[in-house]
Amino acid sequence: MINTEAATYYTATKKYELNFPSLEDDIDVDIVVIGGGFSGVNTALELAEKGFTNIALLEARHLGFGGTGRNGGQIMAGIGHDLDKIRKDVGDDGIRRILEISDLGADIIQDRINKYGILADFCHGYGYMGFNARQTRTLRQWEKDFKSLGSKHEIRYLEGSEVRSIIGSDAYQSALLHMGGGHVHSLNLLLGEALALSSYGARIFEFSPAVEITYGDRIKVRTTKGSVTASKLLWACDSFLNRLEPELHRSTINTYAFQCMTEPLSDALIERISPIRGAYSDIRPIIDYYRVTRENRLLFGSATPLLDHIPSDLKAWNRQLMLKIFPYLHDVKVDLAWGGPMACSPNLFPQVGSLPGRPNAFYVQGYSGFGVTPSHIICKILAEGMAEGSPRYDLISSVNRASVIGKDRFRPLICTAGKTWHQVSGYWTGRR
Ligand SMILES: Cc1cc2nc3c(=O)[nH]c(=O)nc-3n(C[C@H](O)[C@H](O)[C@H](O)COP(=O)(O)OP(=O)(O)OC[C@H]3O[C@@H](n4cnc5c(N)ncnc54)[C@H](O)[C@@H]3O)c2cc1C
Repeated sequence: MINTEAATYYTATKKYELNFPSLEDDIDVDIVVIGGGFSGVNTALELAEKGFTNIALLEARHLGFGGTGRNGGQIMAGIGHDLDKIRKDVGDDGIRRILEISDLGADIIQDRINKYGILADFCHGYGYMGFNARQTRTLRQWEKDFKSLGSKHEIRYLEGSEVRSIIGSDAYQSALLHMGGGHVHSLNLLLGEALALSSYGARIFEFSPAVEITYGDRIKVRTTKGSVTASKLLWACDSFLNRLEPELHRSTINTYAFQCMTEPLSDALIERISPIRGAYSDIRPIIDYYRVTRENRLLFGSATPLLDHIPSDLKAWNRQLMLKIFPYLHDVKVDLAWGGPMACSPNLFPQVGSLPGRPNAFYVQGYSGFGVTPSHIICKILAEGMAEGSPRYDLISSVNRASVIGKDRFRPLICTAGKTWHQVSGYWTGRR
């Protein structure tokens, strides 16, 4: 079992002390949102910016309790892991449009930070790293793909000794530098967004788990101590949904990711690790990902590559992976390690839409481990769908949401099989 109560880098460096009440009344609103992570807060904020401010947001624990408050803070380009998996749902033109949409993410985050003055330490500079010739070919293709979207940011392919200009490691053959991506303090970003949301008059309730839903023209959500009745509902619980809505529960499967944080390092050491003070990941199907923080720490993240397995010592697990990339950090202490579940969809693309036969009950989930940037894009489009409808919403919600058969009984088996298949397929998708 993973300890979801463990301290994280984010809780230790939180800049906002927000405490919202728990819901203890029966209230009526236009829109109720369940889940206080990026998905719930961002969709609500997008709606509020459009003038839909009569919103109640329910969070079972505290804001950022889920993946949003425990991730690597990596701002990567794109949505989903391999758009070819959804080509049959949206066609070639759909893929092109999703590629264009997916380029918006980092700018949405940057605009949000600027607009509301959020203290989220956005730092530009992302390195996609290649270990071998196959991954090097993929990075060359990504360079063309990223540049074809007309990005205003520097995008530069690097090979051989040039790689050392962005990272202090001999592990890699090639790199693609994307100055549009980077990293962010994910919990401070969320809390700043929540503060912005409440400034529009939307009501946020913490420690208010939804426990029962009655659907209809007016939807009633019962919490442990109160209730909300609303015309529209959004499910945004991702890996913490816990069977509450069986239709959505069936569509994803949880796997786990882990993070560790080193002690503060000297300026010289940080300069050696990351001359650009950026974020990095390799491009294997299941990546290692890391970044420096403003306090000169290195955050190193991973997941188990094949088995559905939670290492008993997360510090030691991440440390041995970190030393493969940066052997000269052997004397550096790891101060903290933590982890959490991530909801994965069968096609590894986020699931967005409304429940069958319930046009006023919307959902978003299943970012498959890649949700910081995608949630900001997807929730902008979801808010369009919830407000007045839009062609972009029609496109994104037309992606198939398959069920995972036997997910509860055979979870470790399905997860292990899925990971193994995902890893093996990397040989022909150019990621291994
Ligand atoms: C260790 C780790 C590292 C990661 N690293 C990265 C990364 O570097 N880059 C990246 O892009 N993505 C990363 N991810 C994935 C990313 O964090 C998630 O995809 C994203 O945060 C999901 O946001 P969300 O709002 O959909 O869900 P969450 O943030 O999980 O929020 C869901 C919320 O719903 C609440 N909830 C559940 N049930 C109820 C209920 N009944 N009533 C009320 N509230 C309820 C939960 O308490 C939770 O707060 C990582 C994930 C993990 C776990």
